Amino acid sequence: MELLSGTVLTRDGFIDGYVVIDGGVIVEVSEGRCPGTPVAEGLITAAPVNSHSHCADGGLKVPPGMSLEELVAPPDGLKHRYLDSVPDFELGQSMRRFSELSLNGGYGAFIDFREGGERGCRILRESVPDAVILGRPTSKKYDPDEAESILEASDGIGLPSISDIDACYAESIADDVRRARKMLGIHVSERVREDIDAVLSLDPAFVVHMVESADRDLLKCAEAEVPVVVCARSNAFFGSVPPIKRMIDAGVDVAIGTDNAMLCEPDVRKEASAFLKVLTAQGGDPEAVWRPMLEAGRNILYPAKDIHIRKGAEADVTVFPYSGSMSVRSVLESTDRILRLRRR
Ligand SMILES: [Zn+2]
Repeated sequence: MELLSGTVLTRDGFIDGYVVIDGGVIVEVSEGRCPGTPVAEGLITAAPVNSHSHCADGGLKVPPGMSLEELVAPPDGLKHRYLDSVPDFELGQSMRRFSELSLNGGYGAFIDFREGGERGCRILRESVPDAVILGRPTSKKYDPDEAESILEASDGIGLPSISDIDACYAESIADDVRRARKMLGIHVSERVREDIDAVLSLDPAFVVHMVESADRDLLKCAEAEVPVVVCARSNAFFGSVPPIKRMIDAGVDVAIGTDNAMLCEPDVRKEASAFLKVLTAQGGDPEAVWRPMLEAGRNILYPAKDIHIRKGAEADVTVFPYSGSMSVRSVLESTDRILRLRRR
């Protein structure tokens, strides 16, 4: 049996209390004093989901001053040339390293936009069996056989952007994903504003970035109940700032992702701190960081489940230490070790 003590994030919000775990299952969630010696103290939450990553490119050293296009635009950006040139075992090593860093950084699952077609999906599945994989077709024209083989090896498809592929191609892929009952994600308006109507008509589970978006684009996402994944550190590398406060004001469910491994390590506190900095500079309420940091990603991945700590759930738990009283700052500024209890 393991005891955790501190502030527990439940469906009803934060409570001061403790959690008892037995055999990998949460057997008790109670308010009040912890009845024994806890293995960890802090903010106890169901493990946050990293809602957007590219886990294979951690080995690429990025020359400073590169533009978004030079670095990541398919098919000739530096990243894609790198991924094509690196042997399978080396990519697998980078993926496993990313997974380890993610666990140490407090994350549970990560939703990976996996480049490299069926090959990329296969290497990731072999290297990190529980990764959430959204594969990406590599053929220039829509190829139903390729889509099928990617969907067999993945949990869905993660598209670059509607500026990178033609509309019919994107629609065919979206149909295939729907038929396979899998997940579709897509980058939108990262560098230039794109047509949100065309994107939402694909029925994505979520969209990523929306940096260059008008308020009415954000309202449409909120109305369609399509969450937006913000990657503040990645955007900062390219000199752009996501409109986080406008997203929240529009009623968007905002989640957080760490994007390219070559730019940002997967660390909940570092990514949420960058998010918080942007949010507060835009006049937003610091408390608004909790949902994007802890809950929204789980809501994308486990929409039909209770996304919080509860009795009877598998112990997929993270404990973020803090000193003094629990607050956004005391949690994010702590440098003490994060405890991750993994599912068995
Ligand atoms: Zn991305």
